[in-house]
Amino acid sequence: MTLPSRVSSRSAPSSSPTVSRRRALQGGAAAVALAGVGAGGLAGCTANPATGRQTFMGFQSIDDDVALGGREFPKLVQAFGGAYEDRRVQGYVQDVTRRLVPHTEFPNLPYTVTVLNTPIVNAFALPGGYVGVTRGLMALASNEAELASVIGHEMGHVNARHSAERQGQGLLASLGVLVLGVATGSSEIAQLAGSVAQLYVQSYSRDQEFEADMLGGRYMTRAGYDPEGMVGLLATLREQSQVEAAMKGLPAGAVDEYNMMSTHPRTIDRTRAALQQAAATTPPNPVVGRDPYLQAIDGLVFGDSPDQGIIDGNTFIHPGLRLRFQVPPGYVLRNGQTAVRAQGRDGGVIQFDMAPLKGDVARTLEAMLADANAQGFERLSVNGMPGATAGVMLNTNQGSAQGQVVMVDVGRGRAARFLFAASPNRFGALSRGFRETTYSLMTLSAAEARSIRPRRLDIRRAGRGDTVARLSRGLPYGRYNADWFRLLNDMPPGGEVQAGQVVKVVTT
Ligand SMILES: [Zn+2]
Repeated sequence: MTLPSRVSSRSAPSSSPTVSRRRALQGGAAAVALAGVGAGGLAGCTANPATGRQTFMGFQSIDDDVALGGREFPKLVQAFGGAYEDRRVQGYVQDVTRRLVPHTEFPNLPYTVTVLNTPIVNAFALPGGYVGVTRGLMALASNEAELASVIGHEMGHVNARHSAERQGQGLLASLGVLVLGVATGSSEIAQLAGSVAQLYVQSYSRDQEFEADMLGGRYMTRAGYDPEGMVGLLATLREQSQVEAAMKGLPAGAVDEYNMMSTHPRTIDRTRAALQQAAATTPPNPVVGRDPYLQAIDGLVFGDSPDQGIIDGNTFIHPGLRLRFQVPPGYVLRNGQTAVRAQGRDGGVIQFDMAPLKGDVARTLEAMLADANAQGFERLSVNGMPGATAGVMLNTNQGSAQGQVVMVDVGRGRAARFLFAASPNRFGALSRGFRETTYSLMTLSAAEARSIRPRRLDIRRAGRGDTVARLSRGLPYGRYNADWFRLLNDMPPGGEVQAGQVVKVVTT
């Protein structure tokens, strides 16, 4: 979650208890900027030098691409946690980008590749050469060729003008960013949805993915990189999406809609075919660049940033809000831009967010639920803080769900809010865990807040006696720690570390 000032203004719409199940399950909504994009210029067909295709480009010229991307990119950066403030990491990514640019069809575009400060695993491109790569993805990559493959792939989308193709097809009338609070097990992020901006971040077609792989493969091999990097990273990303699905209790193969595997639907076979079509054969002495890559990401922040709140097992701690709470065992916490959400294997859902508070908390809750047919208003006291609660029925697109809203005055004109929800026949059985969550809400002292540090990657050599179990202790994913350690280190399921092996370890 972001800091309170932004939370309060953005989280207002989620105060409505009449949320769809989808919204309730996804962690609530929050507004955002919808910026209209004026269509100018003439429609026309242009032969694209990257694809050779005559494509109806709608109203977008390449100059329009640059203007549009330049205007919208800061919003997307903001939605994905902002730029990762580390000159060494950003500088390294620029160096890799500079090697690729001369091999693109539009080398004069103002290519900008920004590392985004979010643990979500993804990369995206806006028209005109504006590319974002998340630090979550950076952590999973294992060498420079893999990084080059991501940047090359995104540059492929830019050069093939896949966004403009969609605009030409009339899908893109305006561009805006709708940020919803959501979550991944790894933690999480801003969701871009319900607006046209999601077209940039959400799915490309399989054909466009094929083309982006082909072009990216061409750029990277011409720049001297080993094209196997593209396949290697894709394999890791596919495994990561499996682990993430398991962490969320989703069926294997289901992927989060913000995951790279969802926004860039690719298979290893198709990527290999694309590389073949690009004649992206391995250059002589191909650059893999494992050592420089690992050196560049040594110390990279891993998982949540403290300024967005940190998940530690079943506990959520937010140093900026100076709050903490704990969810019941079996719930997986996910941090979002505007809300924190936990889902239980028992079917319960817990959503936490902040709201501005003027005056009495119970009256504020009543006003908030005025149209909601709420029942059973009660005042309560949570660790000395005044609070109020009421029951609501939630209309969802899968029928009714029973909900309980709790609002607690945490001081400084702010209220913490919980929404507990479950199907009506399960709610009673889960209410004890919901109550315990409510009463776990506590404020942090300034010293406690200051002591919260982010997790970071530590590149080190495994010692004698080191095991996956031992080396994965610093990860925040509980029983999925070993799976994550193997993902980070390209190890097969069940594999063990060898003494002397260079590994990525997560430490605090
Ligand atoms: Zn793609």
